[in-house]
Amino acid sequence: MSYPHLLAPLNLGHVTLRNRVMMGSMHTGLEERGDWPRVAAFYAARARGGAGLIVTGGMAPNEEGGVFPGAAGLYTAQDIANHRGVTDGVHAEGGLIAMQILHAGRYAYGPKCVGPSALKSPISPFPPIALDGPGIEKQISDMVTAAVRAREAGYDGVEIMGSEGYFLNQFLAEQTNPRDDDWGGSYENRMRLPVELVSRIRTAVGADFILIYRISLIDLVPGGSTWLQVVQLGRAIEAAGASMLNTGIGWHEARVPTIATSVPRAAFTWLTARLRPEVSIPVITSNRINTPDLAETILAAGQADMVSMARPFLADPDFVAKAASGRTARIAPCIACNQACLDHTFSGKLTSCLVNPRACHELDLPVTPAALALRIAVVGSGPAGLSAALEADRRGHLVTLFESADQIGGQLNLAAKIPGKEEFLGLLDWFKTEVAGSGITLRLKERANEATLADFDEVILATGVTPRDPGLPSTPEAQVLAYADVLNGAPVGRRVAVIGAGGIGFDVAEFLVHQGISPTLDFATWAAEWGVGDPALTPGGLAEPAPHPAARQVWLLQRRAEKPGRGLGKTTGWIHRAALAAKGVQMWGGVSYLGATEQGLRIARDGQEQMLEVDTVVICAGQLPERGLADRLIALGRAVHIIGGADVAAELDAKRAIDQGTRLAARL
Ligand code: NAP
Ligand code: SF4
Repeated sequence: MSYPHLLAPLNLGHVTLRNRVMMGSMHTGLEERGDWPRVAAFYAARARGGAGLIVTGGMAPNEEGGVFPGAAGLYTAQDIANHRGVTDGVHAEGGLIAMQILHAGRYAYGPKCVGPSALKSPISPFPPIALDGPGIEKQISDMVTAAVRAREAGYDGVEIMGSEGYFLNQFLAEQTNPRDDDWGGSYENRMRLPVELVSRIRTAVGADFILIYRISLIDLVPGGSTWLQVVQLGRAIEAAGASMLNTGIGWHEARVPTIATSVPRAAFTWLTARLRPEVSIPVITSNRINTPDLAETILAAGQADMVSMARPFLADPDFVAKAASGRTARIAPCIACNQACLDHTFSGKLTSCLVNPRACHELDLPVTPAALALRIAVVGSGPAGLSAALEADRRGHLVTLFESADQIGGQLNLAAKIPGKEEFLGLLDWFKTEVAGSGITLRLKERANEATLADFDEVILATGVTPRDPGLPSTPEAQVLAYADVLNGAPVGRRVAVIGAGGIGFDVAEFLVHQGISPTLDFATWAAEWGVGDPALTPGGLAEPAPHPAARQVWLLQRRAEKPGRGLGKTTGWIHRAALAAKGVQMWGGVSYLGATEQGLRIARDGQEQMLEVDTVVICAGQLPERGLADRLIALGRAVHIIGGADVAAELDAKRAIDQGTRLAARL
């Protein structure tokens, strides 16, 4: 596919963007560490890769507005000089960069947080300090100052974060803004703060500076904005001097997923398309857009003037350059898992990417040619083995990849079968393309052994895991299945007990309650499941959830006496739990398994024995390292490298596997 719309320039009057791709704002954590060369390298790589306009992670305008204590902002001459290094780096690569100004309001994680009222948010422990008139003036003034300093630091513009339930959004909604002064009451008063802010920033920075306002198109919270209010605000923001409107979706406290992998691609672009004819400045669409083909289709259909993608630029900084040069299949895909980006951010760790461990590690994990080309054998083509093989090949080693199955991918092939995890198919395709385009010798359907590995200089064992057998007593009539058999199509009854509620138990439960189309592939089904309506019909766009009935009755069990699902991803665990609850899945902790018979699964729970009358029991009881070959080689005195699940099976996921494989091969 060619991308005439995606690659078309966008004229903003005083400046022309080189294409219609915006790298959306993401928090990396690099600024807070004060590691400015790394910040500069991170953004410069994305500019080199062709992004039309980059927006930085949110910068705090003042102490009270920072997302957390110590959040980065532009306060001192030194701060400005640090940011100057970033903007110079981007400009040297022919790119443009805007700084996001993020005032978190009552979402700020600290006792000094402020808001239109003292109403605490459901996702924050701190009640905000209700601002008085001078307090509001101070917030405006601090945000204007941040914009002026951004200009001094060489930024080409600013983005004002007005969505996602942050400070400005909190003034818009009646339920968070019960004020009766000039900043509350009527909608005109409630929108006064964002409009006033845009107007004052425009006056302060002059006409030749990009000013993006991120507007919430669907709040997904009770009492959120109506569509008429969204349009009214959009027009007022345009009149106040904004250059573009970017799309924001859902408050952070919304109980609807908005960017997770199970959200359909481009799920909210219909709202950007609806706003576009209402204003005359360019509108930017966002959320779950991760391929150039999809972005091109959106632009060609006139649904938006520009497409914002954030996480895809972690997965591949060269997204645009590869699309422009006919190498689309080589774009490392963001699978929207959040595992190394948002989950890291919310655990205070540096952002990176499951698919691309180099993201935010551009300087400490460079690709360096090997001093001496070695013959390297990699055994096992799951994510660990594939990553090791590709990195070793990139560095100039002579790599042979052994895989006993007839296709590469290992456990990724199982993950791709789960409804809501279809993005894994894209990752598998990418790995296949990369291997095919590399110098790797791929030996499928071949089980490596001591003899075949004898002549290699280095042996990397990525032989993966074997499912743990929990030793469940069962009669011959009982139907007890391994999870892999279920995912590979073994017949399963109408009532099912799943033993083990880890990542795979949850996935298997999801697989079992769905049949037919995955909601992720059908927006109407997905919207009905989660209660996503139309802001033109209900404020905030909330509707009554109407999930499709579950295909089966499922019990998801674990021995630990705690709520199942606590170990799932920080930003996505709630989605898995809510999705299964909506399908009537019983999630029980504190269970002991006594045995499976034709009648079902006998368990003890809270000291009480009971028979779960199920037709099928599925074992998802965790994994053990597959070390047979490793043990034999070590016994022969061979030095081997063991990675992925074969190294440590507990807590294994693709993030650790890919990171470990890449880092090992980077130093061989
Ligand atoms: P897991 O997350 O370690 O969970 C294993 C489950 O089996 C636990 O619920 C455990 O709970 C139970 N279990 C352990 N030993 C048992 C025994 N002897 N008898 C009965 N039950 C036993 O492992 P997994 O589900 O196989 O997942 C493997 C890895 O893949 C995970 O670590 C995960 O990171 C990754 N994964 C992640 C996702 C995701 O959504 N991010 C999805 C799929 C897979 P009790 O000990 O309390 O019974
Ligand atoms: Fe995308 Fe996952 Fe990488 Fe985040 S960690 S950028 S969601 S692939």
